[in-house]
Formats: sequence, C-alpha cells, structure tokens
Amino acid sequence: MQNSLLVYNTLSRNKEQFNPLNPPFVGLYVCGPTVYGDAHLGHARPAVTFDLVYRYLQHIGYKVRYVRNITDVGHLENDADEGEDKIGKKAKLEQLEPMEVVHYYTRRYHQDMDALNVLSPNIEPHASGHIIEQINLIRQILENGYAYEKNGSVYFNVLKYNNEYNYGKLSGRVIEDLIANTRTLEGQDEKENPVDFALWKKAQPEHIMRWPSPWSDGFPGWHLECSAMSARYLGNTFDIHGGGMDLMFPHHESEIAQSVAAHKTEPAKVWMHNNMITINGQKMGKSLGNFITLGQLFSGDHPALEKAYSAMTIRFFILQAHYRSTLDFSNEALQAAEKGLDRLLKAYGLLDHLKAADKSTSDVKKLLQNCYDAMNDDFNSPIVIANLFEGVRIINCVQNKTETLTADDLDTLKQTFAIFVTQILGLKQENEGQSTNEKVEGLMNLVIDLRKNARTAKDFATSDKIRDELSNIGITLKDSREGTTWEINK
Ligand code: ZN
Repeated sequence: MQNSLLVYNTLSRNKEQFNPLNPPFVGLYVCGPTVYGDAHLGHARPAVTFDLVYRYLQHIGYKVRYVRNITDVGHLENDADEGEDKIGKKAKLEQLEPMEVVHYYTRRYHQDMDALNVLSPNIEPHASGHIIEQINLIRQILENGYAYEKNGSVYFNVLKYNNEYNYGKLSGRVIEDLIANTRTLEGQDEKENPVDFALWKKAQPEHIMRWPSPWSDGFPGWHLECSAMSARYLGNTFDIHGGGMDLMFPHHESEIAQSVAAHKTEPAKVWMHNNMITINGQKMGKSLGNFITLGQLFSGDHPALEKAYSAMTIRFFILQAHYRSTLDFSNEALQAAEKGLDRLLKAYGLLDHLKAADKSTSDVKKLLQNCYDAMNDDFNSPIVIANLFEGVRIINCVQNKTETLTADDLDTLKQTFAIFVTQILGLKQENEGQSTNEKVEGLMNLVIDLRKNARTAKDFATSDKIRDELSNIGITLKDSREGTTWEINK
C-alpha cells in the first residue's frame, strides 16, 4: 500500500515514490501562521492542504508526527531583515504585551481551524519558546564558517555557501540574478553582500522582543525558527516539509542553506508547496481591498461578499482544486461549491436507506479504487471528488429505482463515502453545531410539557421540583395565562 503513493517534490520538480526514512514513521513539518492578525483565505489553503496530506498518510498506515509552528518573533514587516517586528508593532499599537497579541490570535486561529475541521498538528512549537535552539544553530553555522558577526548581529554568508552548495536549488533562482536584483536597503550596510540574510539581529533600544545571546541583546532572523524547530522535533533530516508557494523564496531556500551549513545535511527529503488563492484573478492583499478573513467569510460581513459561506463550503471549495493549481475565489465559485457540497452530503445521507437488489448495474468497487488511485497520484482531491459525484449519481439512481446494487456493493459504496468524504476530505454536516439552540429549545418545550402534565395530575411535588431545579441551574420559568415561558438568567 505505502509504496504506491506518488508525491510531487518541488526540489526535483518530479513526482516521486514516497519512501519514508524510517517507516512506519513520517515526519511532516509545515510553516504555520505569523500570529498578529486574523487568519484569512490565504491561511486556509495550506492548512486544508496539509490536513489532507496528514489524514491520508495516517489512513494508509503511517504514524505521522505533524509539526506546524507558530511564528511569534522575528518576522519583520517587509519579510526581509528590516522594519518592525510584526507582532511587536501590533503590541505597541494596542498597548499590549507581545505575548498577549500572540495568545489572542493563536486562539482565534485555532477556532478558525476547528471550524474548517483541520486536525490539530501533533506539536505546535512557538518560535519564542525555542530561542536557545536557535542560538545553538547560529553557533554551529558560525563554527562551520558560513556566517559572520557584525556589530552584534550575525548574517548568513550566502556567497560562500553558494560556492560549495547551491543557494537557489529549491526556488530555481540564480545567484547572479539575486545579486543584481537585491538592492541595499538603508541600514543594511552591515551585510557583506545584500543577498546575505540575518540569523541574529541586535535589537534597537525601542525593540520590545529581545533575548540575551553571545552576540547582543536581540532576536533571531525569521528563517531560523523553522530550521531549529524541525531539527528539534523531527531530526536533522525528515520526510516532508510543506508550506505555501510564497514561502519558497527566501524562507525555504534559506532554511535549506541553514540546515546544510549547520548539519551538512538537507532538512527535508520532499518539499511540498500549495499554490495561491486569487480573488477575481487578483492577488489578495490588504491594500487591494480584497483581503477577506475567515471570520468575515463565515459571517458574510465584507463588501466583496454576497452572502455568508460556511466553513465546510470553504473547505470543499479548496479541495475542489488540486493543491498545486491556483484557485480563484469569487462569489459564483463559492456558491457552486456550496451547492455541490449539499448534493454530496444529501446523497451520503440517503445511503443508509437504500435497498439492496440481486445484481448491480454499476461497478462501485472500481469507484473505490479510483479514489485511492487519485489520492496516490499526489493527493489529487478534485479527481476524488469527481468519483464521489459518480457515487452521488448512482445513489440517486438506486433511490429512483433506475439502477440497482447488491448488498455487498452497497457496503462498498458506504465504505467509499465514509473513508473519502468523512475521514480523508474531512467534510461533515455542519448544522449539528448550529442547531444547538434549537435543541435546547426543544428540550425546554419537553420539560415544560412534563411539568404541565404533573400539574394537571395535581402532582405539585414534581412540578415544583422541575421549577426549582431549573432555577438552580440558572433557568427561570414564568407562568402566565398564555402558558409557560422560560429564560436563561443573565
Ligand atoms: Zn517556516
């Protein structure tokens, strides 16, 4: 089973047979969010993509250690080595401790991920909790001669590294072009070459997030945390490193350089990158006015949205495209996804009520195999979904009695839906959670009815007990001529 999985490796630009270093164990590291604002559509795609990978690897029998980090220090405003720390800036604006900002947005990120039915990773390390590991990594890189110290900051020597290895092998960039295209920003004259990047930065007096180090009171460079934390939890070499395509350069390229410079070995065997989400063909961005958070999508509260879209609609929308294709967001596309998901889940609900016949008019065993074949071909979720819709067609035909299935084939079809819709695509009916209020309403009507019966039967001990016990848990009953109403005490 395991050997049939093909995974596209960004490093080799090929689909490769997936062979873990130490089966049945698989190490999976994915770059997580920088927690200084609410998660948006662009965060949902890598989360759902690697959730699919995580779920499928487990389904085919691997024991996966999935590490997804929280970036809470070192990510500077311009994604390079200058500007304010994104979290430090937010903290100053809101007059909060940086860790209050981190805690607040991490909780909100988790709520959004729960709504999207994205499983929790096994470890979610924070960059700020691994300063010692990062300092040790810098020491090693310095010792091996691939970094230099200047005025309390430490920079990675890209040219020296590139003479022996290949800086650019992941992203396909060429060092000469990088040198020609990298401008020396103001205040960056400490670097021997503008393509060098910071491993440690000396903190300016106004910089809040700072730690002592052998070089200065300062903070780690953005790329360093992932090298330090992946090595800490998955070893110097592990199976899969994932993230959005926008992280390929400079973040992942620099991660490879740091790991090779420190450990003489590349961090990941396979690099997987999900493509980007565009909005009406445009890149999403705060300045473009098409920046939509997940909370706004769920509530419909954004000028670009015609209505609210449920978390499962967003999840289904993302899975309808292969993770390496671009995905264009529009109200039409989301409304089509909403309808499609509804059709899929309705048919799934019918499955248990179908009656078996003596013979089958469709080959559902082939359908199950097609779903596995699609997943084994670089996690091809759109092909899985196309096959599930063939299943929807069969279910509806059996229901209308224009097709038949044997009991054995019905079981296979149920199995196909249970495995692929629920376990692997992670799709579920949502109204269960939303109707909690309706359930409470129904429950209270029942209780009021029972009390009324007790009173009619002159069983006042029971009717009083119901009223008093409800009062103890904070619910007040009010009797009037029109009947009994209830309210939860504020
Ligand atoms: Zn990272």
